[in-house]
Amino acid sequence: MNERKITGVVVDSGHGGSDPGAISGNLREKDFTLQAANYMTRRLQELGIPVVSIKTTDEDISRTERLRRANEAFNGDPNAILISNHINSGGHT
Ligand SMILES: [Zn+2]
Repeated sequence: MNERKITGVVVDSGHGGSDPGAISGNLREKDFTLQAANYMTRRLQELGIPVVSIKTTDEDISRTERLRRANEAFNGDPNAILISNHINSGGHT
């Protein structure tokens, strides 16, 4: 068997700060992704699953810094996974 176990979860909230992501009326993607990411992080902690959050506030963060934090979260462990929350707007059918 070539089975690998997940050693940890990195949780990212898409957008933030000056980057609102998708906008519809007064709804901003960054607010939903932050809420979802903080909830996921808290639940994983409650379940005893190793978790690192890339950011927990409405932070302005560059792509480079986001990736740096993701890679450093579990010291580059290839068995850690990244979940990046996005709630994109779609086309209409
Ligand atoms: Zn997005």
